[in-house]
Amino acid sequence: MAPTLYIVIPCYNEEKVLPITAPLFLEQLKTMQAKALVSENSKIMFVNDGSKDSTWQIIKSLAAENKTYIGITQSRNRGHQSAVLAGLMESKDKCDITISIDCDGQDDISVMTNMVEEYLSGSEVVYGVRSSRKTDTFFKRTTAKGFYKFTKLMGAEIVFNHADYRLVSAKVLKEFANFKEVNLFLRGMIPLVGFKSSSVYYERKERFAGESHYPLNKMIALAIDGITSLSVKPLRLISSLGIIMSIISIIGLIWAVTFKFLGYTETGWASIVAAICLLSSIQLICIGIIGEYIGKIYMEVKQRPRYIISERTDDYEQK
Ligand code: UDP
Ligand code: MG
Repeated sequence: MAPTLYIVIPCYNEEKVLPITAPLFLEQLKTMQAKALVSENSKIMFVNDGSKDSTWQIIKSLAAENKTYIGITQSRNRGHQSAVLAGLMESKDKCDITISIDCDGQDDISVMTNMVEEYLSGSEVVYGVRSSRKTDTFFKRTTAKGFYKFTKLMGAEIVFNHADYRLVSAKVLKEFANFKEVNLFLRGMIPLVGFKSSSVYYERKERFAGESHYPLNKMIALAIDGITSLSVKPLRLISSLGIIMSIISIIGLIWAVTFKFLGYTETGWASIVAAICLLSSIQLICIGIIGEYIGKIYMEVKQRPRYIISERTDDYEQK
C-alpha cells in the first residue's frame, strides 16, 4: 500500500507567499497520489509559528476549503526549528513519511516525487540538497558556504548545502523523539539518528514573495547554536590553545631570564603591552566560548517545552 505522507511547512509572517504556494503543494501532492506514490490520506500540514500577520487566518480558511490542508499554531513565535519540530512530532503517529519544506517556494517542490521514490527504494531519510545557488545573492552564497565549512570544521556533522528540506520516515521520527534537547539544530541532529539515507538534488529558486527571515546576524546565531549544540570541539581547541600558549610562555620565560642574567634588561614596554593585549583577548574569547556552553547547559536543565501548540484546525472538525 502507498505510504501516507505529511508535508510539514513552517510559516512565519507569510501572508504574501502562502496563498501562492499552498495550491502548488496541493498540486504536487495530487501528482504523487495520481502515480500511487502516496496514499489518499496524505496531508499538507502548515505550522504557524506565532505569526503577527494574517497567516493563521489564511491557514484556517485553507483547511476549511479542503480537507487535505491541516494547520497547527504555536502559542508564540519560537523560531523555524521549533516550528518544524512541532509539525514533525505532531505528524509522526499519523503518517508513514514526512517531508519538511519552507513555505516560500524557494525549494523545488517537484523533487518531492524523487524523495518518495528514494523512500520506496529503502531510504528512511532523504536530504534535499541544493545543487547550485545561482539565484542567491553573492553575499548569501558566500556566507552560506562559510557557514557549512566552519560548522563542519568545528565538528558538527551536516550535509553540505542541505537545509531543512528533507523526507524523514515515521520510524526515524519515533527514535528522534528520544532526542530531548531544547537547543534545536535539526539538520545536524537528524544524521545522528542514523538509518539508511540518500540525497536528491535541486536548484534553489528565489522567494516567491515576502522577505527572508535569515539575515546575517541570524545566520551567525544559527551557526554558533549548531556548533555548540552538536560538538565540543571548540572546547578542545581551547585546551590545545592553552597548551600552545604555555609552551610559548615557557620559551618566553627562559628568554627573559637569560637576558636578565646576561644584563640586557632594557625597558620592554612595547613587548609587555603586546603580550597583555594578546593574552587577554585570547582569554576573553575562550571564556566566551565556555560561556556559550554553560548557556546551553542552563537552557537544557530547565527542560522547558520545545514547542507549544495553542490551536489546531482539526479542533474545529471534532466539535
Ligand atoms: N520561519 C518560521 N519561524 C521563524 C522564521 C522563519 O517558521 O521565526 C519559517 C518561514 O516562514 C519559512 C522558513 O522558516 O517557511 C524559512 O525562512 P526564510 O525563508 O525566511 O529563510 P531563508 O530561506 O531566507 O533562509
Ligand atoms: Mg526561504
